[in-house]
Amino acid sequence: MNPPAIVWFRRNLRLTDNTPLIAAAESGRPIIAVYVHDPGHPLGGASAWWLHHSLSSLDRSLQHLGGSLVVACGDAASAIGRIVAETGASEVFFSHRYESFSRDEEDLLEQNLANDIELHGFDDALLTPPNAIATRGGTPFKVFTPYWKSAVERGDPAPPRPAPRKMIFAAVAGSLRIDDLRLLPVAPDWSDGLRNTWQPGENGALNQLDAAVDNAHLYAAQRDRPDLDITSRLSPFLHFGELSPRQAWHALRSEASKSTSSKGSEALIRQLYWREFSSYLLFHFPRLPEEPLRPEFEHFPWTNDTGAKEAWQRGATGYPLIDAGMRQLWQTGWMHNRVRMIVASFLVKNLMIDWQTGADWFLDTLVDADLANNSAGWQWVAGCGTDAAPYFRIFNPVLQSAKFDPDGNYIRRWVPELADLPTANIHEPWKADGMTQQLAKVRIGVDYPQPIVNLADTRQRALDAYQLVRGLLQSRTDRPGSSVG
Ligand code: FAD
Repeated sequence: MNPPAIVWFRRNLRLTDNTPLIAAAESGRPIIAVYVHDPGHPLGGASAWWLHHSLSSLDRSLQHLGGSLVVACGDAASAIGRIVAETGASEVFFSHRYESFSRDEEDLLEQNLANDIELHGFDDALLTPPNAIATRGGTPFKVFTPYWKSAVERGDPAPPRPAPRKMIFAAVAGSLRIDDLRLLPVAPDWSDGLRNTWQPGENGALNQLDAAVDNAHLYAAQRDRPDLDITSRLSPFLHFGELSPRQAWHALRSEASKSTSSKGSEALIRQLYWREFSSYLLFHFPRLPEEPLRPEFEHFPWTNDTGAKEAWQRGATGYPLIDAGMRQLWQTGWMHNRVRMIVASFLVKNLMIDWQTGADWFLDTLVDADLANNSAGWQWVAGCGTDAAPYFRIFNPVLQSAKFDPDGNYIRRWVPELADLPTANIHEPWKADGMTQQLAKVRIGVDYPQPIVNLADTRQRALDAYQLVRGLLQSRTDRPGSSVG
């Protein structure tokens, strides 16, 4: 009898260019396709919604090939150990993940399984395995550009491989149903906006990639314009591995070689390496989600203003671009990158609320919530990351709004109570006179809030606080024998 092979699906919920699946199919063994949901590592609401639909889509694709997805709940090492014991499976194929709990999961699996069970782990989620490159001194890169150059020097990523056309599946008793994982919201169902915006799953990913390739020629010049909506929106598909980064890289490179201007595709390819860099940082600095990489920020005097935090979360700060972004996030599970930077800066600098509070909210509400990208993004904006924007660079949400949403169309879309204001007032509605407010059918302070903070005062407060912690750090490092990690 030919013992079966387990394909442990993790964040690679696709059939195309799925190295562990292809390797398992090539082994000639009957396949058991498994997904293990671990409630010990809870997902945010939007991610859980996405995962439900992504697993359903994967299950349908496997059914077309004559199999199905075996679903288990609990810690992966125990669940897979049980399936091995029940089926006599002799090999397990999977893609590595880079969060510290995922690496622990892999170690535990290795310890739990008998020595004669072969484990095949592949670096399938990234173009460059995180342990493949280092500085000349052998230490991890902390700055993007040299990291990127070094990654690119390794040469082009391998071309994507098609999904296996034929597989034999082994039967397994006792699979849970995807519904049993209870990933969808229970009443009230808040997922309408997500449903109307996204098509989770591999087909949705391929459609999104086609659209991204079509729009790529606009990307270099217009990627910072949230009103134009021309960025790829590939982030949730890449996060859940419904699309491999190789598929994205090759589709964009092929577009670059055909197009008269390759600038947009090349700029998008470069963004893929920001994703790589975040996972690289998380791999080498596993405490990235919890600890500021710059030590002075451990002593930062964050405020604990619940009212301001809730106004930020609800999109009711009185600053239209901030509110538009936060409402886009709440309604669709996604926010434009430039607006992510501006709302994050506002939280951390103008409201002086710590970056982890913001990161937690994003993890709960983003469909692309990704521990590596999110932690690196927040540390970058907060100024406490390795390769971060300096803390003293504070985005002014009014100037940013006028620059990147010049006609106010993004604001009008997400903050409909301001839709009828003239463009001259849309970025600072509190300055609209009574007549203008009346004509626009909005009363500032009643239908839409007055600004919750003064930008100039809070900017100065943030700078003063930063000087203070820098001073503290300086006096510590000036002491003989002291060192900063
Ligand atoms: P595009 O501009 O079309 O870029 C293509 C792909 O490149 C993206 O899909 C993404 O995979 C990758 N990419 C682009 N920019 C970045 C970046 N700065 N860092 C890492 N990867 C990038 N991205 C997430 O995927 N998940 C998160 O949880 C997340 N949290 C963030 C939090 C903050 C505070 C900030 C400032 C950024 C965050 N980002 C996060 C990065 C970035 O905002 C999103 O990847 C991007 O907006 C997704 O939209 P897109 O697919 O249209 O991007």
